[in-house]
Amino acid sequence: MENLEQLRQEKYNAKVVSKVMLTPNLMILRVVTNEARATFAAGQYTTLGLLGAEPRSANSDAEYEKAAPDKLIQRAYSIASARHETREFEFYVSQVKSGQLTPRLFALDVGDRLFVGKRIVGAFNLSEAPADRDVLMIATGTGITPFISFLRSHVTERPQSRMVVVQGAAHQRDLGYYSELSFLNGAFPNFYYLPTLTDADETWSGKRMWIEEMLAAGVIEKETGVALDPERTHVYLCGNPKMVENVAAWLEQNAGYRKKKGKQPGELYIEEF
Ligand SMILES: Cc1cc2nc3c(=O)[nH]c(=O)nc-3n(C[C@H](O)[C@H](O)[C@H](O)COP(=O)(O)OP(=O)(O)OC[C@H]3O[C@@H](n4cnc5c(N)ncnc54)[C@H](O)[C@@H]3O)c2cc1C
Repeated sequence: MENLEQLRQEKYNAKVVSKVMLTPNLMILRVVTNEARATFAAGQYTTLGLLGAEPRSANSDAEYEKAAPDKLIQRAYSIASARHETREFEFYVSQVKSGQLTPRLFALDVGDRLFVGKRIVGAFNLSEAPADRDVLMIATGTGITPFISFLRSHVTERPQSRMVVVQGAAHQRDLGYYSELSFLNGAFPNFYYLPTLTDADETWSGKRMWIEEMLAAGVIEKETGVALDPERTHVYLCGNPKMVENVAAWLEQNAGYRKKKGKQPGELYIEEF
């Protein structure tokens, strides 16, 4: 495409500063924007975009719907960075092999340019969890991303609040941010990390339960002291829609939680990808 460089000049406003492949289909991508963004709340998201003319990764499949070469394909991504960042942002991205944008994001190299949304939005944040209430964060897959931002931004600011991350995955390699979360678990007395695997190999000595089983068996309260009680603990769910649906239904039916919707009060916050 002759005018591809011109279109890139017009549309792109950021470039890749680092790309860490955790598996062939999971990566941590850091970008720097040309212009600073307004300050954001930990847990919010923005959009990433690339032109349809950009190449796709070597390990992707044919796209299920072909993007026009001059179309700027845009999708939402939660920001993993601490809320004080204004130009450099970190994203944790899972490749949908037949998707439109992610195979193009996976083909990026350090120094390549892309589009990053000018606005950072979303209502999934800690602003309504009082500083003396405990916070339970439950994630699968890239759903861990807003919680990394919560912790990088707030763990030192909420000493009266116990903060727990329950992270579910199939294999250990799918537990994104495992080292950072394990480090925080050792470093902060108010933080607890409970990873659990459903398909672990013999090297894994941790939990091997479904998140739904952990709730039903009272594992979280036994191990951290954090109660599944809406008066004392606010719960945040992010990730696989089935996990989110099951866990939300369990908390509503068995523990009296109410989903937070707009201005209506509630102690259960949900972000679906
Ligand atoms: C608020 C928010 C935050 C998000 N944060 C993150 C994040 O932090 N990290 C992350 O990785 N993702 C995140 N997402 C998801 C992200 O926005 C994209 O949806 C995802 O990356 C897939 O984009 P894509 O263009 O590659 O796939 P798309 O082209 O959009 O395809 C996605 C869907 O299309 C359908 N599809 C794909 N292939 C086929 C096929 N062969 N046949 C039929 N249907 C098909 C499937 O339903 C598939 O899941 C977030 C989403 C939201 C709403």
